[in-house]
Amino acid sequence: MLASEIMIRYGELSTKGKNMKDFINRLGKNVAGVLEDYSGIEVNWNRDRMHVILNDQEEHSADIINRLTHVFGISSLSPAMKVEKTLKAAEVAVQDLARELYEPNMTFKIDTHRADHEFEYDTMALNRKLGAAVIDAIPEIQAQMDNPDIKIRVEVRNKHIYISARTIPGAGGMPVGTAGTGMLMLSGGIDSPVAGYLSMKRGMEVEAVHFHSPPYTSPQALQKAKDLAAKIAQFSGPMTFIEVPFAEIQEEIKKHVPDGYGMTITRRMMLRLTDKIREQQGGLAIVTGESMGQVASQTLESMQAINHVTTTPVLRPLISMDKNEIIDITKTIDTYELSIQPFEDCCTIFAPSSPKTKPTIENAIRYEKALDIEGLIERALAGVKRETIKPGSSQDDALEETFNSIL
Ligand code: ATP
Ligand code: MG
Repeated sequence: MLASEIMIRYGELSTKGKNMKDFINRLGKNVAGVLEDYSGIEVNWNRDRMHVILNDQEEHSADIINRLTHVFGISSLSPAMKVEKTLKAAEVAVQDLARELYEPNMTFKIDTHRADHEFEYDTMALNRKLGAAVIDAIPEIQAQMDNPDIKIRVEVRNKHIYISARTIPGAGGMPVGTAGTGMLMLSGGIDSPVAGYLSMKRGMEVEAVHFHSPPYTSPQALQKAKDLAAKIAQFSGPMTFIEVPFAEIQEEIKKHVPDGYGMTITRRMMLRLTDKIREQQGGLAIVTGESMGQVASQTLESMQAINHVTTTPVLRPLISMDKNEIIDITKTIDTYELSIQPFEDCCTIFAPSSPKTKPTIENAIRYEKALDIEGLIERALAGVKRETIKPGSSQDDALEETFNSIL
């Protein structure tokens, strides 16, 4: 069935009292945002429901539904088909729909609602006539009023009749943008994209900060981080991606800091820079993909020695998760295959052979005295590049677009 309209239910939002209006307005913008490239679609809403009217984009309804299932703040959605306002058209449509959904021994019910009370048939008559049409199409189907397997909703409105039967679960959570902005420290690994996704789920708008160290790291490693950003942008709409040149800092650390503290001080520099960028971008928090005890930099001792450079909240949505649990989520957000591509990240290349798992703040401060912290930060910030990453786009898509525009 090609949908001509999609009805959206809000779920958790409905309980948000006076903030509800802001939440729904934001959801409306986010829904319009993910469908931006389809011209002519209308999105309108009231306090109970949102309606996406597809107009002449009906043939894309499957893709549109798929995109909407990625939008946080939607509890469920129901595609509806618009038909001519005649009994005949409604009969044909309920028959088609019933045939599409029917499996042996299923029961059904027609549930009619009329906004237009002038229509020549009343609710009871429509239920009866459309029910008879379904039985004509599938003689073995049984009608059942309580808990039918197939419930066909028929709405008679001013100009058309709308028919729907499916309820598709939404992504849940809160609309992205209702909880302020956070800077996601995005590596090319498995964990940080998952941390970004989970933050978005509770309404945070996420901007990605990625450190790279050319010529030690390759253009592919940078592209991989952008591709990961594009994957999670499917849950938020276009995402700001900020790349920070990090080679000079890593060279200086390698030269002047004892090996055991290289990692601690590298992380302190990353956090300082991310915090400066957060300030410039008007963000309220920093998000990382750290999980307790996963590697040397993720012991509590390491976290306190690293975190010491800022009082900004550093959120770690994965803190309690095992690697397997994190990998499970990568399946939902489709990042696993990308994350395991073998391009070396700046931290892997400069990784000390035996990082301290229990560094202290005092030692970190002492070893940093050998570095020109302010100069290094200033130069790295001067080299920062910002771009907007489109949802789902990857280097391959970009290439394809270029080819298409040439052809
Ligand atoms: P990930 O899979 O997210 O890389 P990880 O388990 O490999 O995590 P680390 O590489 O030690 O852990 O990094 C811990 C966190 O530090 C990452 O989750 C990420 O938030 C941040 N981080 C690491 N490298 C970078 C980088 N190059 N740019 C931005 N953030 C980074
Ligand atoms: Mg990593």
